[in-house]
Amino acid sequence: MTIAPTTILTHGAHLPVLGLGTYPLRGAEGAAAVRTALEVGYRLVDTAENYRNEDAVGRGIRDSGVPREEIFVATKFNREWHSVDGARHAAEASRARLGLDYIDLLLIHWPNPDQDTYVAAFEGLVKLLDAGVVRAIGTSNFKPTHLQRLIDATGTVPDVNQINLNPYATRDATVAFHTGHGIVTEAWSPLKPSSLLSDEVIMGIAAAHDRSPAQIVLRWHLQRGFVPIPKSASPQRQRENLAVFDFELTADEVAAITGLDRGEAGVTDSDSFGH
Ligand code: NDP
Repeated sequence: MTIAPTTILTHGAHLPVLGLGTYPLRGAEGAAAVRTALEVGYRLVDTAENYRNEDAVGRGIRDSGVPREEIFVATKFNREWHSVDGARHAAEASRARLGLDYIDLLLIHWPNPDQDTYVAAFEGLVKLLDAGVVRAIGTSNFKPTHLQRLIDATGTVPDVNQINLNPYATRDATVAFHTGHGIVTEAWSPLKPSSLLSDEVIMGIAAAHDRSPAQIVLRWHLQRGFVPIPKSASPQRQRENLAVFDFELTADEVAAITGLDRGEAGVTDSDSFGH
């Protein structure tokens, strides 16, 4: 069984460097996917209020029999909770839906700048962190301008910013900001679009290592310092996606994959979209 190593976040929590995405898994299928993932060695599970599957994720965790303290659970809250009190309510509601004693990492799902309340939401997260309600706090889909505002207003840096990132969208400016501030980059949709897995550069490197294209892409994320959260409902692909800690890409291979970047065109603009 493979267990991913961890990285230490700014506020001290230990984040597994690869996790399971859970959107759009729900109900019994969702619970089973989380249970099998934990059985094959996953220790990071990503969910959100918006996925309406926190109950299923919690059930999968309990069904797995893996001790709670060995698992890192991340969830996210929607725009209606963007206030100090709202963040507290959102944390408690997620915790109750998960049926767990605590959440490890709580994220603001989208900045929603039209509402202009993400700073208050982050102030709420800082209070939850200080009170020991959560182990780590962060954001998702924040741009450097949004992150800078949080840091200026609160003096606190998010542990994590979870963004859409893959070899076709390497998000260089955002990643550089993260690196400069010690923010860990989590990569959502790390294997998408599906055409990525038949890209000839990826296929060539996969053949050279006798690995699958998905394993090559996930290994690229890890060697770039990103934390990918691939979703799979199939135990076989869950295992495949986790089996990426026993080989290494060369610097040239990493550079060739990074060279597939097509810029930000395919990335949803978080100044205009959010929930
Ligand atoms: P992924 O990059 O994880 O791709 C998932 C798709 O790839 C599924 O169709 C899956 O199918 C397939 N797949 C998985 N492993 C393999 C493999 N080894 N070979 C071939 N196909 C494979 O995309 P997601 O959009 O699901 O993103 C991952 C997670 O990120 C989400 O589940 C969610 O937790 C999070 N997310 C966060 C967002 C945010 O705003 N913060 C937005 C969107 C997602 P199958 O299940 O059949 O294996």
